Amino acid sequence: MSHNLYTHFHNAFANHLAEVAIETDDARRWTFGDLHAQSAQMANWLQSLGLKPGDRVMVQVEKSVPALIFYLACLRAGVVYVPLNTAYQSAELAYFMENAEPSVFIADPAKAESLRELAARIGVPHLVTLGADGQGSLVEATQNLSTEQATYAASATDLAAILYTSGTTGRSKGAQLTHHNLASNALTLHKLWGWQPGDVLVHALPIFHVHGLFVACHCALLNASKMLWMGKFKPQQMLAWLPQATVFMGVPTLYVRLLQEPGLTPESCAHMRLFISGSAPLLTETFKEWQERTGHTILERYGMSETTMLTSNPYRAEDGPRLGGTVGRPLPGVELRCMGEDSKPCASGDIGGIEVRGPNVFPGYWRMPEANAKEFTADGWFKTGDVGRINADGYVTIVGRSKDLIITGGYNVYPAEVEGYINDLPGVDESAVIGCPHPDFGEGVVAVVVPQVGATLDAAALTAAIKSQIAAFKVPKQLFIVDELPRNVMGKVQKKALRETYAKVFSS
Ligand code: AMP
Repeated sequence: MSHNLYTHFHNAFANHLAEVAIETDDARRWTFGDLHAQSAQMANWLQSLGLKPGDRVMVQVEKSVPALIFYLACLRAGVVYVPLNTAYQSAELAYFMENAEPSVFIADPAKAESLRELAARIGVPHLVTLGADGQGSLVEATQNLSTEQATYAASATDLAAILYTSGTTGRSKGAQLTHHNLASNALTLHKLWGWQPGDVLVHALPIFHVHGLFVACHCALLNASKMLWMGKFKPQQMLAWLPQATVFMGVPTLYVRLLQEPGLTPESCAHMRLFISGSAPLLTETFKEWQERTGHTILERYGMSETTMLTSNPYRAEDGPRLGGTVGRPLPGVELRCMGEDSKPCASGDIGGIEVRGPNVFPGYWRMPEANAKEFTADGWFKTGDVGRINADGYVTIVGRSKDLIITGGYNVYPAEVEGYINDLPGVDESAVIGCPHPDFGEGVVAVVVPQVGATLDAAALTAAIKSQIAAFKVPKQLFIVDELPRNVMGKVQKKALRETYAKVFSS
């Protein structure tokens, strides 16, 4: 039996070829038949260049439907899809090309000239272009090829994709994902989240990342569901689509932006079945405000590039409530444990390093045996680098990344805990707590706080208010008020950037 992920999609939509698969915000449409025919042409092109299963193809392009079709083509041809964040510049691209040794690089037309030289120097044989409008030499090269193609019969261990992690320390690592990793996770989510005939997904995320490319597209394709597709997130477009949509997947910042729209009401959301959030922590304030404004309870889930999805809050009421501030329970088939500093599983409610095992967990990093030896236990658990706790009902709460853990004067401080107290203070919109080098304590706690619109905050008053609530070693020794926190495109606060900004606050 073939494990090719594309075969699962094709089985799901084969009887819906004339139906619209994707409609864009500029009113263009692709049917499932178009996806099938055009991905065949692109797969035939890859094979005509001599690419074999397991060869890599690197893609750094703006979001477009042909870019998604090209991903499907790679699955069909058995070549390994390596998508890159559009923000990466030449030094990073040189590293990725040298590390992955792609046979083909797909570039944005605006960047192609400068990349051609780099690709030639590194020895990438083919560079073609694909623009946000779907035009470029990729389409020209493929549009007259045969629309018939025999999908590669992948084994469970064949690689489908490599996702480079954002690399908060050191060089970015390529997380290898097999067809079986992706298919097992997609099938689990499709069932767990109750996908049903008639579902329509609003797709508003980038497609170089696990959330937008895998979670969102895989679920829709497995359900033969229409996607309403926008390049950059536009709240007004989202509101216009709500009456015909049923599912939305967003990062927390998208929910925050939607809450600023007066048109967001129970009536405007009446057609929706499910709102899902992930990729970064959803503040409990946002979770509650969304409930009050729309009558819908956001389902928060948790995952990462190396594992795709790991946990989810319940979809069905009989499986329990959706609890704000938690990421729900491990998915069926996923094992998750929190490990204490003594390398033993924590008691329920105690904080520890999250380790996971399951069919979705990647086989390791591309060409990085040392990292693999360090980040997997002997019995196959992957150390996620996240710190969290599991309550008596099995719900997981993420406390932060272990690299963000602050050790001050020998005491552990979990940033999320301190952030929670700060965020509850009047006038505070959000905050980030980091550790900065301190001559006496090793690290000192620093808080960076964003006021609510129209509020004026006083650093000394905030610090005094926190002091009365938590142990002195957790209280920020320095507190800064800023207009906004640095975030990446997935809405994650860039703590590394903050640590750099405030690196010297204690040095005098
Ligand atoms: P990435 O590999 O870029 O998808 O980043 C994965 C990381 O994002 C995880 O290891 C977590 O630290 C974080 N993350 C993802 N989803 C959530 C969530 N729902 N709540 C808190 N952190 C999350």
